Amino acid sequence: MRKISFGAPIIGNEERNAVLEVLSGSQLVHGPKAKQFESDFSAYIGGGYALSVASCTAGLHLAYLNLGIGPGDEVIVPAQTHVASAHSIEYTGAKPVFVDVDGTTGNIDIDQLEKAVTHRTKAICVVHYLGLPVDMNRVTAIASRDNLFVIEDAALALGARYKGVHAGLLGDVGCFSFYPVKHITTAEGGMFVSRHKDVSDRVARLKAFGYDKMVGERAVAGLYDVDLLGYNYRMNEIEAAIGIEQLKRVNGFLAKRSENDSALRKALDGIDEITCLAPGGGDFEHAHYCLVVVLSDSIAAKRYDIINGLRDLGVGTSVYYPGPVPHMKYYREKYNLGGIAYPNAARISNQSIALSVGPHLNAEDMDYVGKMFKKVLGGVK
Ligand SMILES: *Cc1c(COP(=O)(O)O)cnc(C)c1O
Repeated sequence: MRKISFGAPIIGNEERNAVLEVLSGSQLVHGPKAKQFESDFSAYIGGGYALSVASCTAGLHLAYLNLGIGPGDEVIVPAQTHVASAHSIEYTGAKPVFVDVDGTTGNIDIDQLEKAVTHRTKAICVVHYLGLPVDMNRVTAIASRDNLFVIEDAALALGARYKGVHAGLLGDVGCFSFYPVKHITTAEGGMFVSRHKDVSDRVARLKAFGYDKMVGERAVAGLYDVDLLGYNYRMNEIEAAIGIEQLKRVNGFLAKRSENDSALRKALDGIDEITCLAPGGGDFEHAHYCLVVVLSDSIAAKRYDIINGLRDLGVGTSVYYPGPVPHMKYYREKYNLGGIAYPNAARISNQSIALSVGPHLNAEDMDYVGKMFKKVLGGVK
């Protein structure tokens, strides 16, 4: 029996040595590693101003702090996403306005997005769902018509490009995550990117208490003034050192993900009871975080039997995500959203199984997963 784990960070001697090098020195924060990781990252994505941050969630929060939004303001966000996409809006006192997604891609439904804009709307958050880029030309057309800021939650979109432009550089601001099971890891960590220098300059201060002068810029060590309510959202040197090494491997990781995705789609071919979310291609270069199979209505009630059956055969799975965010207790109760249906988000949440295409797996693993899926499905029907 094979052992297929859903996610496993790939950490080698390069990362281990880089960490030891930092620990042997005297600078654990405010150092050269974070600066290098930032410049390597913007070189990798092909532009923009990159700022290392404590997490993707911290980066998203900084994006909204920079806009100065708060109570009475609205931000549009997809219903199908990680709760961080909504929490980061909620932290500011602004209201997340949830919009259903397209059932074939998991990305925000742009017709419904357009209808959700009100005079209170300040920004649109798009999520490149599991690595598939959103149709950004349509989103930015709506945003520029209504003078709205566009924030890309690119937590799972490292390597995703739309019409050749990397995620994070399509809207006004983009945030990436380096949590352990994402495309690359720094244990915890994230990257904030913006095409606008003024946004980046301000966020650089917001992520560090609102100091007017950074370490290195001060005439006398330890002397500074504070003119902003900043946070402590920096990435430390140990995390940055891991990130520098991980970024060197990213093209290899992405190639493996893409190969695995194709192999798994082939291995699952011909199963009538499932539909895979859209594969991307053409203008939509997919970063292949995982492959989501949506079960048909006839078999949906057997989801947990299938998941458990796969587990017993060594195949780890996951669920993306456990429910539409507006139906999670906090949002459901606070904004009274229980009665509003988000049918496509609910269908993906409640009827799908996420299968790994991670770089720790290979083509034979994908073949095995396909065979086991068919076997388990035959048993539960
Ligand atoms: C993982 C994830 C986040 C949160 O990232 P952290 O780095 O853990 O804060 C936000 N949005 C999406 C879509 C995610 O998948």
